[in-house]
Amino acid sequence: MDRISEPQAFQRRCEELRLQLGGSGAAGHALGFVPTMGALHAGHLSLVAEAKRHARCVALSIFVNPTQFGPGEDLDRYPRDMAGDLELCRRAGVDLVFTPEAPSMYPPGDETRVRTRTLAQGLCGRSRPEHFEGVCTVVAKLFALAGPCVAVFGRKDYQQLKIIERMAQDLWFPVKIVGAPIFRELDGLAMSSRNRYLSAEERARALSLCRGLRAARDAFRSGERSAERLRAQCEEALLAASARIDYVEIVDARNLAPFTDQVPAQGVMLAVAAFVGKTRLIDNTQLDGDEALGGEQ
Ligand code: AMP
Repeated sequence: MDRISEPQAFQRRCEELRLQLGGSGAAGHALGFVPTMGALHAGHLSLVAEAKRHARCVALSIFVNPTQFGPGEDLDRYPRDMAGDLELCRRAGVDLVFTPEAPSMYPPGDETRVRTRTLAQGLCGRSRPEHFEGVCTVVAKLFALAGPCVAVFGRKDYQQLKIIERMAQDLWFPVKIVGAPIFRELDGLAMSSRNRYLSAEERARALSLCRGLRAARDAFRSGERSAERLRAQCEEALLAASARIDYVEIVDARNLAPFTDQVPAQGVMLAVAAFVGKTRLIDNTQLDGDEALGGEQ
């Protein structure tokens, strides 16, 4: 596909987007694609940079997808900053920004949903039972619109990454999925659009998530292999900051199957979700990995 001649071309209509990107598959992975819900931050921009390593053109979508929010969740107050987002995209060299409205993604009569089975059951799926069906559905629509591409997703949402990988494989989407590292503030807080909800005092308490990951990883590195004791290390940090724990789980990094007894030496993922005030935050790390978790100096 030729480079999209107008940098920052806009497209709000699905059919026209498809026409505009038509043929992008011909040259293999000419298109890099970064789906987001906007309120962009440096973590999102790191995905753009990763997409650029794989593709000549990068498209980024901004869509606060209503079907992935449950009743009582933050759909209505989810941070929106279209002007700021577009400026960040322009500076990051995004070639095309796709900003559909909900009726374009879910036109009248829409009734198809996409879901995985076991992968969506644990972790965030337990407290957000409809969430991943909404995610799979919107990402399937976006993939169908984008056509062949390299799609970059953050490991910040590790369960989501695993589910999308599985969905793309199962449904034969012509999409290569790339997982990108968690982008953190210097002190370790994983960047998230929802961090905008936090007061200064809550932000300080939110550091308990990465502190808990660090404590468990230190214990793992010292040879601790009891899933329960590793989890307890993490929980202690969260409780010390009066965070309300949704889950602290240790799972197999490949298939998200929980470890309840002893954990192996490799492929061990610790994932956490907790409320700080009203804000639900998630974080994770591979205990046998070497990801920087901040605040280590
Ligand atoms: P969201 O806008 O929160 O739906 O996120 C859009 C994409 O950005 C998803 O693939 C997320 O995993 C990814 N993402 C969000 N925060 C981060 C982060 N701190 N580091 C890396 N990727 C992230």
